[in-house]
Amino acid sequence: MSVLKITEVSKLFGATRAVDSFSLTVEDGELVCLLGPSGSGKSTLLRMVGGFAQPTAGSISIDGEEIIHLPPEKRPTGMVFQSHALWTHMNVFKNLAFGLKLRKLPKDEIDRKVEEVLELVGLSGYGGRLTHQLSGGQQQRVALARSLVLEPKILLLDEPFASLDQHLRERLREEVRDIQQRLKITTLFVTHGQDEALALADRIVVMRDGKTEQVGRPDIVYREP
Ligand code: ADP
Ligand code: ADP
Repeated sequence: MSVLKITEVSKLFGATRAVDSFSLTVEDGELVCLLGPSGSGKSTLLRMVGGFAQPTAGSISIDGEEIIHLPPEKRPTGMVFQSHALWTHMNVFKNLAFGLKLRKLPKDEIDRKVEEVLELVGLSGYGGRLTHQLSGGQQQRVALARSLVLEPKILLLDEPFASLDQHLRERLREEVRDIQQRLKITTLFVTHGQDEALALADRIVVMRDGKTEQVGRPDIVYREP
């Protein structure tokens, strides 16, 4: 069953066609990597799916609902950025509980959900730490947890590990794949790294100049750059 339907979406910034009549359908539980060089429109597309930017033309729907018609708190997406944008004055627990408090969940339920998600990302017992006391990899795990705790329908990841070193990047990649499969959460992952896309994706969409250049299973899409 398809969850996300992007139909002939374009985004113009002045004369720049960041996204150019782009279409894609994503199935429930699928992990799709958007792969392409810098400036190919990946982030702009992801931001539109997240409801952070409006398409100039076209339609984006999740479970049949147009994303631009939904108020921010009803958007069924969770986004993780390259720079984690955690709240540094709050500890890990508070970072994760914040969105749940806005939803007015009872305290014991918030505690339970935060504990569960911390375990999922391998950070049990880190609730009391201030985020600036954590390593870069741990901070990105918290950023991921902060999205997941709200149980989004679709997880959106924009080069989440780009600022980490190669070794850590590969480890976190495995962790994300593992978590994604356990939760069976539909995921769009933006990267300019071919190895990252190959390691992660059920399907790769290669973007260039805001358009789809190629789309298919990793073993079909793969070729030398
Ligand atoms: P990618 O994520 O693949 O690097 P982007 O989506 O960031 O690509 O950018 C696609 C194109 O749109 C680039 O030419 C970029 O400069 C342009 N662009 C992105 N955001 C804006 C913006 N807010 N204002 C003007 N141009 C933008
Ligand atoms: P990414 O690393 O995801 O490709 P960029 O570094 O291109 O993103 O852009 C970071 C921010 O700057 C985004 O909010 C984007 O919309 C904006 N931006 C990108 N290109 C331009 C541009 N040419 N003019 C104005 N804003 C831009």
